[in-house]
Amino acid sequence: MLNFGPFSAPVHTLRMTARIIDGKAHAAALRAELKSSVAALAARGVQPGLAVIMVGDNPASRTYVRNKVRACEEAGVLSQLHEFPADADESALLARVRELNADPRIDGILVQLPLPPHIDEARVLAAVVPEKDVDGFHVHSAGALLIGAPHFVPCTPAGIMYLLEKEAIPIAGRHAVVVGRSNIVGKPMALLLLQKDATVTICHSKTPELAAHTRRADILVAAVGRTNLIGADMVKPGACVIDVGTNRQPDGKLRGDVDFEAVRAVAGSITPVPGGVGPMTVAMLVANTLHAAQQRKQY
Ligand code: NDP
Repeated sequence: MLNFGPFSAPVHTLRMTARIIDGKAHAAALRAELKSSVAALAARGVQPGLAVIMVGDNPASRTYVRNKVRACEEAGVLSQLHEFPADADESALLARVRELNADPRIDGILVQLPLPPHIDEARVLAAVVPEKDVDGFHVHSAGALLIGAPHFVPCTPAGIMYLLEKEAIPIAGRHAVVVGRSNIVGKPMALLLLQKDATVTICHSKTPELAAHTRRADILVAAVGRTNLIGADMVKPGACVIDVGTNRQPDGKLRGDVDFEAVRAVAGSITPVPGGVGPMTVAMLVANTLHAAQQRKQY
């Protein structure tokens, strides 16, 4: 607690550092809760099941898939990995999606992106039945979110909303700036913040004077994929800074879109990379799979 009383240090010697939002700890707590909900469901004879489809051998995708499968197994969720070679036919993939749509053991189907360029990503995602769309990428889920009646919310923005709630970050009436407008992070993130009554600005690669926008943010979400895009001079003092970016460095280390060391001296709270948003994405997938099982089995 800062003390500005008569015996406190002069203000110029105080260096503010942001509270670190520990996504790893929040995700572990959520996963423990989910595990007991899964056990309760299992006691009634229902084991939630997730099928992950992976095409090719992209090392980053392989790591993400491994983390997702492991998290499901730890929570007691049945998980299946369906691997296809990089030159697989789109028709083979669609046939597998249809099989999984009809498989009663499977509650959630996840197609790991990106798919190779010869495969129409939109067509494959659209083939998943909306009741099993645990990634929230189907147009049905996207539309439901747009009209304010979310069905499955994409895991990364859902995880960020969870962090904001747990960290008691005020949203209503605040100005949120989302940098990035992808269908899987930026756009759903902006919609979720809007639903919680933030005033939302969405920035992208064609936004002139990015810093003029980010400096007005009470909540700043960076979802771009560029190391250190957000510097300290782009952040309002005391802001909550959420770093979604995962940028692999030449030395193998993972860095975010935010210059963490510089920005933590200005922000009020900040997520680190790694250990911030990433673990929440995985936990939310388990949550969505459990939710899908509960919905389908009417529990
Ligand atoms: P995309 O590449 O789909 O989207 C990136 C967005 O950033 C685009 O909207 C693009 O604008 C915008 N952009 C690019 N350059 C700039 C710039 N200089 N200034 C402002 N905006 C810019 O990426 P994703 O949304 O899929 O992912 C974003 C990042 O988040 C990546 O690093 C990814 O690895 C990471 N990620 C992390 C996850 C996690 O769990 N931690 C989960 C998902 C993603 P435009 O639309 O104009 O091209």
